Amino acid sequence: MPTDDRETCCALLRNGTEALLIDAGTGARRLVTDPSLLAGVERLHVVLTHFHLDHTVGLFYLADADATVEIWGAGEVLEGTPTSELINRLLGSPFAPPSIGSGLTVHELSLPAAEVGSFQVESRVQSMHSNRSLALRTAGLVWCTDTGFDPENVEFARGSRVLFHEAFRPADTTEGTGHTAAGDAGRIAAAAGVDRLVLIHVVSGVEDRALLDFALPQFAATDVGRDGLVVPLS
Ligand SMILES: [Zn+2]
Repeated sequence: MPTDDRETCCALLRNGTEALLIDAGTGARRLVTDPSLLAGVERLHVVLTHFHLDHTVGLFYLADADATVEIWGAGEVLEGTPTSELINRLLGSPFAPPSIGSGLTVHELSLPAAEVGSFQVESRVQSMHSNRSLALRTAGLVWCTDTGFDPENVEFARGSRVLFHEAFRPADTTEGTGHTAAGDAGRIAAAAGVDRLVLIHVVSGVEDRALLDFALPQFAATDVGRDGLVVPLS
């Protein structure tokens, strides 16, 4: 859930008149409340890791964004249901005004690689969450959220500039699936040889220090994500 310190997460990448938003957490509202974030952007591509509400509720807010919004997801691969149908369930009437659902362009994301506007987006399916999810790679960043500790993400993240990895659990490691402990996120960053690790998908009430205490011994260049964090990719 969003807190006074953190919205549910998403990341914005800019490239000229286009932008790409990874996931549409509650943080997507900032694209409306701070229009400078989209200044000069004509087309906003939203790529979804999966369909849980903490990653999609922000789509509702984007109806007020000052750009044309296109949504990309892997509903067919992840859930056996076209992304357009899933988005329509979420944003169709009566849960949103009819004008919102009918005004959206929804694409099925091609796996394992796709051209999303001017962005090249690679993906892999993560099977260690309550619903399956996508790890994403684009423009020097890798985004792995809503997954248990998945060693296959090491190769996927290999050599990327910045790894954003979930750290749902303030622990060194954890049994089972669903989410990843901070120590294991650090292990993936170290094994993948990334330059920097940013911990995301932080549980409300967990202090940054509690995560860093487990991640830093595994990987020194670790930060905890926060709203408005700017991360250079080149
Ligand atoms: Zn989820």
